Amino acid sequence: MSNDSLAVSHETEAMRHTGGPHIRVPQQQPKPSLAAKEHAVQIAAVGVEKIYHKGDTDIPVLRGVDLDVQQGEFLSIIGQSGSGKSTLLHLLGTLDAPDAGEVHFGGNRIDNLPSSSRDILRNRHIGMVFQFYHLLPELTLLENVLTPLLIGQGIWRYWRQRRKNTQAAKELIEMVGLSHRIKHKPRELSGGEMQRAAIARALIAQPEVLLADEPTGNLDKHTGKEIMAILRTLNVEKNLTIVMVTHDGAIAEQADRVIRLVDGRVARA
Ligand code: ADP
Ligand code: MG
Repeated sequence: MSNDSLAVSHETEAMRHTGGPHIRVPQQQPKPSLAAKEHAVQIAAVGVEKIYHKGDTDIPVLRGVDLDVQQGEFLSIIGQSGSGKSTLLHLLGTLDAPDAGEVHFGGNRIDNLPSSSRDILRNRHIGMVFQFYHLLPELTLLENVLTPLLIGQGIWRYWRQRRKNTQAAKELIEMVGLSHRIKHKPRELSGGEMQRAAIARALIAQPEVLLADEPTGNLDKHTGKEIMAILRTLNVEKNLTIVMVTHDGAIAEQADRVIRLVDGRVARA
């Protein structure tokens, strides 16, 4: 299937203004019927290999990872430190490219898209959260959550839609339980609150998939549980597909399915 068939839709405002490439990426797809949904693969790795190079040394990390994640599934990937979990998640999110194999999203190959198309894909269709939150320190919680919309819509469209955007951000912030913190800067938030904010930011553009890299890794047990509860609620209520990486077995087993990375390949957990 050609990449053109990546359900092409709106180019960004910025692109219209700059006359940049008219890249089209998947729009939110109509909700499939339940029967179809059960079998729809949302994101997949096919024979994915990754080798890092350090000086003259090759470090093979992924040696042929095959993985299908179904639409609406909550999958966790477990493995020892250094087993390649973050590497795999980055490849699924097109932050990096595999040395061999392919990554598919909604049935289309995405690892070989031009970087501008991958940017759009990540902006609108694949949300990400990380262990250390990566919030912008100078922005308030509300502004942090709005950032992907500003980037995705471009300044003019963002400004025209600012009320709608702010409303959407506030709803998400309420959903993660932070309505009383919207004007706070990240340094005024606890770890759990920062992760909630990062989750709201990851979801503001209504992506189909959330990729989470050790989202509870820097949090105490109780706060970690709260984050897991939020992820589960989003999975159930928004039919969000979640791929979560963790080294913590107790966290991993709260997902629908657990796979383990061993020697650069998927083993049954
Ligand atoms: P995990 O997330 O499971 O702890 P990573 O995917 O971060 O593992 O890393 C897998 C292996 O690849 C580790 O041995 C790590 O040191 C190595 N690695 C990761 N990123 C790089 C890089 N940019 N350059 C060289 N080696 C790397
Ligand atoms: Mg890691």
